[in-house]
Amino acid sequence: MAKAIYTFGDGKAEGNAGMRNLLGGKGANLAEMNLLGMPVPPGFTITTDVCTEYTQYGRDKVVADIKNEVEEAIAHVETLTGKKFDDSSNPLLVSVRSGARASMPGMMDTVLNLGMNDATVATMAEKSGNPRFAWDSYRRFVQMYGDVVLGMKPKSKTDIDPFEAIMDKVKEEKGVKFDNELEVEDLKELVVRFKAAVKDYTGKDFPESAWEQLWGGICAVFDSWMNERAILYRRMNQIPEEWGTAVNVQAMVYGNMGDNSATGVAFSRDAATGENIFNGEYLINAQGEDVVAGVRTPQQITVEGSRRWAALQGISEEERASKYPSLEESMPVCAAELIAIANKLEGYYKDMQDMEFTIQDGKLWMLQTRNGKRTGAAMVRIAMELLREGMIDEKEALLRMEPQKLDELLHPVFDKSDIKKAKVMAKGLPASPGAAAGQIVFQADDAEAWAEKKKKVVLVRIETSPEDLRGMAVAQGILTMRGGMTSHAAVVARGMGKCCVSGAGEIKVDYKAKTVEMNGKVYNEGDWISLNGSTGEVYDGQVPTRDPELDGDFGAIMNLAAKYTKTLVRTNADSPRDAKQARHFGAQGIGLCRTEHMFFEGDRIKAVREMILASDVEGRRAALAKLLPMQRGDFEGIFEAMDGYGVTIRLLDPPLHEFVPHQTATQKELANEMGISLEEVKAKVDALEEFNPMLGHRGCRLGITYPEITEMQTRAILEAALNCKARGIKVEPEIMVPLVGVLKELQNQADVINTTAAKVFEERGESIHYKVGTMIEVPRAALTANKIAEVADFFSFGTNDLTQMTFGYSRDDAPKFLKFYKENGIVKVDPFEVLDQEGVGQLVKMGVEKGRSTNPDLKVGICGEHGGEPSSVKFCAKLGMNYVSCSPFRVPIARVAAAQAAIED
Ligand code: PEP
Ligand code: MG
Repeated sequence: MAKAIYTFGDGKAEGNAGMRNLLGGKGANLAEMNLLGMPVPPGFTITTDVCTEYTQYGRDKVVADIKNEVEEAIAHVETLTGKKFDDSSNPLLVSVRSGARASMPGMMDTVLNLGMNDATVATMAEKSGNPRFAWDSYRRFVQMYGDVVLGMKPKSKTDIDPFEAIMDKVKEEKGVKFDNELEVEDLKELVVRFKAAVKDYTGKDFPESAWEQLWGGICAVFDSWMNERAILYRRMNQIPEEWGTAVNVQAMVYGNMGDNSATGVAFSRDAATGENIFNGEYLINAQGEDVVAGVRTPQQITVEGSRRWAALQGISEEERASKYPSLEESMPVCAAELIAIANKLEGYYKDMQDMEFTIQDGKLWMLQTRNGKRTGAAMVRIAMELLREGMIDEKEALLRMEPQKLDELLHPVFDKSDIKKAKVMAKGLPASPGAAAGQIVFQADDAEAWAEKKKKVVLVRIETSPEDLRGMAVAQGILTMRGGMTSHAAVVARGMGKCCVSGAGEIKVDYKAKTVEMNGKVYNEGDWISLNGSTGEVYDGQVPTRDPELDGDFGAIMNLAAKYTKTLVRTNADSPRDAKQARHFGAQGIGLCRTEHMFFEGDRIKAVREMILASDVEGRRAALAKLLPMQRGDFEGIFEAMDGYGVTIRLLDPPLHEFVPHQTATQKELANEMGISLEEVKAKVDALEEFNPMLGHRGCRLGITYPEITEMQTRAILEAALNCKARGIKVEPEIMVPLVGVLKELQNQADVINTTAAKVFEERGESIHYKVGTMIEVPRAALTANKIAEVADFFSFGTNDLTQMTFGYSRDDAPKFLKFYKENGIVKVDPFEVLDQEGVGQLVKMGVEKGRSTNPDLKVGICGEHGGEPSSVKFCAKLGMNYVSCSPFRVPIARVAAAQAAIED
């Protein structure tokens, strides 16, 4: 068997920071801190490989395999500490902690004070001259070991912890409120009762042997790799199960040995704002868990931090200094040493550090350091400041970005403290990020009417359709009961940069009663709710939101992205307004203009309906003639906003039933306007009904059966382009045919487009260069891309439909089972959100390669929702696509991801 254990201590270590995969983050950094000469309690790390074997072969084999090495490593710690394990006169006590390659805060188990028993507690009480400390440590150990190793946990979420129950009883008997009011005799009594409970539960005595305890602790940490919350966390953060956790065994140091001892956490910069200011919290006479448990008020480490804190709390300087002094004031020598260490660590890791420390009897010990988690704003600021400080270079600054997090900078947000207090009533998909609070309305018309009266509304729908567009535009946020990440609501909301939670399957919407039921509570129209589009949570009432601020560092990161990227980022935009927004974020062109979205502005829908309901070509042409000037106007606005960058306009795509009215009242109105009977309207609407509209009469199938639609749209596009040209605006329109699967489909539409173009140019006496291309969104198109590319000037991968058709999952219905699939590991992530590189990715790769094999000049991009998701953007960039296209608010994310792909290449 390979080396299973790496020791460290006293300025030496067998491992180092580069061995993260084998030693886990914590183990690798503990080793490195030793090598950097920092005070670290001696110990050893059992490798992640051992965990993998443990999971595979079980406890007995692994314990037998590593027994000798563990015993040698303990001897090493004994030598360095001058203490002895499993010895009552001079006991060595240890902590046993998990530590995976990626940080998984709080997900796995830890045991402290391991090695204590009835004999050692007496020695500790005597040696320290502090019986309270000894007995407090002992009762903590029995409790922690009972919980973590012996499995004595509350049975359900509502059950009280069995040890806490005993504790509460003892406190009640003593008539005290806080743990630290218990006296030594009470602590002894606690130990007795805890042990009795253990015996009751396990049928065995609490283990007195330190070795038995140690193996119990090590195996419990390995077991915790497979506990429910760790599995869930891994799934959410895409951490592979194969990684395993390391186990760190370390000599105990105590922050609870009296008033000259303390424990705390520190950050080398502010994790919320990124400000370059050392900060942190500590507690005197406490163990690590006390700082996070919130029982006592932690104090600040620096004087400056302490004063800021006091000001926020409304505490006077006098009270602060006497009751809540900073570490700089209470233990100045240790504080200075800690700050020096933090600086050195930051200099070494060249990133903001998150550290844990303990001060035992006036001596500082470092227990952990890691690159600190941070907000999006802090991420940008820290990277840019480190760059300016000369600590990292431009490429590294870009690689420090988690692109997705840039999103936090672009949308309204909730304050953390407000969110903590908010009551979660439902959970759906985080369809479009941001924060929203508003009064509930159920109909788009009402949303508009209320918004006009300056009310803030949240539009709550079973699902949305294009008809709801105007209501969505004025709402603060959108909540839907049905629909996935590429549902209409999600796509449109992302386009608008509007907060949206979709597919919240457990809410019950009743349009008639104008109510929505969530978690047993019935909300009426006008009641306040709040949405978190970044987590999918729905909160009761009005949680305050605040607008984001974009500072210079954000712009600087974007400039760096522009410098290094090889892939352009375009945007999916359907209106001049969205196009402008996207330009503002640095989009270089439009990759997808869904023309159908324009059909819902103003009165256009009437003309669209007229076109659909017309019984012959003439009737359709008459209606289309009404639409022509409106579409032309839109296109002009878009060309203008894009100012010379390429604009891809897609011909009509959705099935026609999406445009017709389904309510009798509206049908009546339409019948009157068209001078036909209500029955005729109803019959037509019924005729348009399809069992599976996503695979029905849509896409190029519409343009082929009704060429006059393609003619009108082509005319609108080219006339708009000519008008712009006349005004000195450079335009090169790209006309895109949707849902092509067969070469003939594209040829048919290309003929209609080219014939119409020739007519328009003749009428106007001038021409303009345009391109004709196609979406690749039907698997057959990818498979026959070499043929299709002979006719197409460009390809744009529509990975929404391509995913739908490759998986055979309906875009709209998939959330129903995908939630279960994710929870049960059938799929790791929602394939409509993150491109499935293994499956759908093959079709994309094949499409690009086959397409370019017959048309080397073929321009290739992606315009499915994946075009704004970092891992998918990188995949496309590495395939050599010319551009990715995404909704305006995802443009910055895609720009950074694309630049990272170029750097990583
Ligand atoms: C797609 O299918 O990926 C696409 C962009 O088109 P739509 O979402 O409009 O079907
Ligand atoms: Mg599509």
